[in-house]
Amino acid sequence: MRPDELRRRLEFYRDIGVTALYRQRAAPRREAEAGNAGGQGSAGVLPPSAAIVLPTLEPAGDTLPRILEDIGDCRRCRLHEGRTQIVFGVGNERSPLVFVGEGPGADEDAQGIPFVGRAGQLLTQMIENTAKKEGIPLRREDVYICNVVKCRPPGNRTPEPDEMEICGQFLYRQLSAIAPKAICALGGTAARALTLHKEGVTKLRGKWLEWRSIPVMVSYHPSYLLRPYNQSAKREAWEDLKKVLHFVYD
Ligand code: URA
Repeated sequence: MRPDELRRRLEFYRDIGVTALYRQRAAPRREAEAGNAGGQGSAGVLPPSAAIVLPTLEPAGDTLPRILEDIGDCRRCRLHEGRTQIVFGVGNERSPLVFVGEGPGADEDAQGIPFVGRAGQLLTQMIENTAKKEGIPLRREDVYICNVVKCRPPGNRTPEPDEMEICGQFLYRQLSAIAPKAICALGGTAARALTLHKEGVTKLRGKWLEWRSIPVMVSYHPSYLLRPYNQSAKREAWEDLKKVLHFVYD
């Protein structure tokens, strides 16, 4: 593998939160092939042919149906134990704008569609009303909506880092396949999954960050906006959304 290709792969693994890689022991080489009996091995230096071979996580020409097929009846993490169904994503597969939430709640788990509960209804209203006010003809079904984790965390708890890491590979494949013009990260979990920034939403919101060169706008999660004492956050969220919509659709 060429060094630039290896670097790209390693950066991909780093981006999805993989912090350790394990190398398989090199297959023993026949002496004739080695041409140098005893020249390698005991010193622990691997010959070039034993360079790390990382499996490709994003197949060439990846598509959403293929990603869904690869997820299958997923049991890769503990979240599968409490789910009714996997909540993959919904909307326009060619959308220039993708909204990423945290994980399905009870309504989403029951229906298999992201953001259909109270928070989802608020998100839909925000998208459609803001677009209308700004003169942009846009409906919920015109954008793509998904979550960092595809199975409902028990009691709607925040997903654990290992759950985000495991499911994150599918989120990353979804985003790569759609290749939107911009992404809107709703809340801290989505912001952490996409930008690797550790700061909270209050610090990150309203600024353009990046996921693999695609602009990412972090904003508040709609369920946070539903709390009655968060009225100023609501105003800020509308501002964030206006910025994203004009960036994508002007
Ligand atoms: N909250 C989320 O983060 N995602 C959903 O799909 C619903 C609620």
